[in-house]
Amino acid sequence: MPRLTFIAVLVCALFSRSTSAAGDSPAALRLAAAIRIETVSYQDSRRIDYGEFQRFHTFLRSSFPRVFATLQVEAVNDHSLLLRWAGSDATAQPILFTAHMDVVPIEPGTEKDWQHPPFAGVIADSRVYGRGALDDKQGLLGLLEAAEQLLAEGFVPRRGIVFAFGHDEEISGRHGAAALARRMRELGLHFAWMVDEGGMLFTGNPLLPERPLAMINVAEKGYLTLTLEATGEGGHSSNPPKISTIGRLSAALARIEANPFEPRLVEPVRAMLQSLAPHLGLPERLLFSNLWLTGSMVARRMADDRQTQPLVRTTTALTLFNAGVKENVVPQRARASVNFRLLPGTTPADVVQRIEAIVDDPQIAISYDQWDNIPAVADSQGSGFAVIEAAVAEVYPEAVVVPSMLMATTDTRHYIDLADNQYRFHGVVVKAQQASSIHGTNEYIAVESYEKSIEVARRMLQLGAR
Ligand SMILES: [Zn+2]
Repeated sequence: MPRLTFIAVLVCALFSRSTSAAGDSPAALRLAAAIRIETVSYQDSRRIDYGEFQRFHTFLRSSFPRVFATLQVEAVNDHSLLLRWAGSDATAQPILFTAHMDVVPIEPGTEKDWQHPPFAGVIADSRVYGRGALDDKQGLLGLLEAAEQLLAEGFVPRRGIVFAFGHDEEISGRHGAAALARRMRELGLHFAWMVDEGGMLFTGNPLLPERPLAMINVAEKGYLTLTLEATGEGGHSSNPPKISTIGRLSAALARIEANPFEPRLVEPVRAMLQSLAPHLGLPERLLFSNLWLTGSMVARRMADDRQTQPLVRTTTALTLFNAGVKENVVPQRARASVNFRLLPGTTPADVVQRIEAIVDDPQIAISYDQWDNIPAVADSQGSGFAVIEAAVAEVYPEAVVVPSMLMATTDTRHYIDLADNQYRFHGVVVKAQQASSIHGTNEYIAVESYEKSIEVARRMLQLGAR
């Protein structure tokens, strides 16, 4: 059953589609212009050029005049944007669409590997190249393109529509999305459902070679980092203690790594496999449609594969280790960080408890930052899901739509309490191997894919606001 391993991560694809006259697409030209504005988030916030974010606001204002004239627009915490589109029925619950305007930096030394410079906004080969082309300027501009078109046609939503665009998603969203969420709470807003970035359509899944797979993420994994600090006797290396802090901490870390979390099929992944089943050949069709029987076996198989294991277990990653200042001194402290990505249903407290039990050493202290909201699992039978599914079906009739779970994190966690259901999806179609360009080299979006994503956004707004 080796093909099972390819599910959802979709490693390889052959895709060659060409569009003509891409340069004629005004939307693509605007996306290219947006990429030229370097709204880069750095972990060290002193390096952030907030002037670029202000330029970005000015650019949006001039590019989407109807949106900015009709919707109530406010800057939140200076650099994030909240846009409110009043609905005709004040009693109907509004809906929320979110995206982010910041992008990750280019890894130093990789600039020359780009086919076109990352902030040049080049359109070539029917593609728009540059940092943010997929993550997430297409998402943000796509929503505004759709709204601008609908306003031009005189569309009046029945439900209110809110757009919340954060400015620091790539560095936790604590100043952007968190502030936007506070402001929306202040305004007394509560949404029937929301749609953020995080899901898209993929081509090139070996299980479904002929059809794009639309993954609407109904959940994302939780995020927790634990810091372990061993303290003990230090001193001159000519007379070392029996167990050094480095040895003590290393042994604890080795125990943690040797005891991964048990694989388990959580509801969103179960729902994904079940939705896929009718479209697959044997043996996957049988396996995935009888998960009551095969579930634990499928989970174990997926856990054995590097690509699919994040879908079925809370992952453990040793990410930092620091100790010592001099080769002939035994340090009195050694410190390490372990990053966990939590499956729905596993809480940070569960992880702490488990790791404390595994470490079981009074000379190692375990600490952690306050955790964010625990991500919720949205209803894949809910009205919001149905709206996204219908929008996809109209634009991509050949696509197979499945609920899924995002392995990364998004701004969504800041909005959990504001909406009954949270979905993650932008209607772009990408090749499976293109996913690695997100945060990597040669990020691009095909012009045709971008235009279709605008169409999906349009339909989501129209159908959602009914
Ligand atoms: Zn993003």
